[in-house]
Amino acid sequence: MLPALRPLLLTGLLALLPLLFGLVINTAAPHPPTAARTPTHCTRYCHNHACPHATPANSPAYFQLRPLYGSIVRALATGGGGTTYILANLLVFLVAIPLLLLRLTYAVLRDARTIRRLQSTLPHA
Ligand SMILES: [Zn+2]
Repeated sequence: MLPALRPLLLTGLLALLPLLFGLVINTAAPHPPTAARTPTHCTRYCHNHACPHATPANSPAYFQLRPLYGSIVRALATGGGGTTYILANLLVFLVAIPLLLLRLTYAVLRDARTIRRLQSTLPHA
């Protein structure tokens, strides 16, 4: 295997982990997906509206991160609503951020390999 391919292969395998995690979560979910509001559990409704199930006692992170979530939604909607918002959302969260993370992961793995190779050429004390 070419030396540059190993970090690239590892990066690709690491990139598959979130996809596998999402697949497992979605196939193991006890309820079928729906956008309808349900009184007993969260659905897509909770994503599209404020979650009626969350309370500061059972979801403190939800209330801490809700302003950040609102800021991100407003930033993505600055270009307009509807299709423009959807495209901005997809571009940022499905293209730009994953590509940035893949590039950073590849750089770390490549540099770690280079460091190991250079350390092996040093004389041992
Ligand atoms: Zn909910």
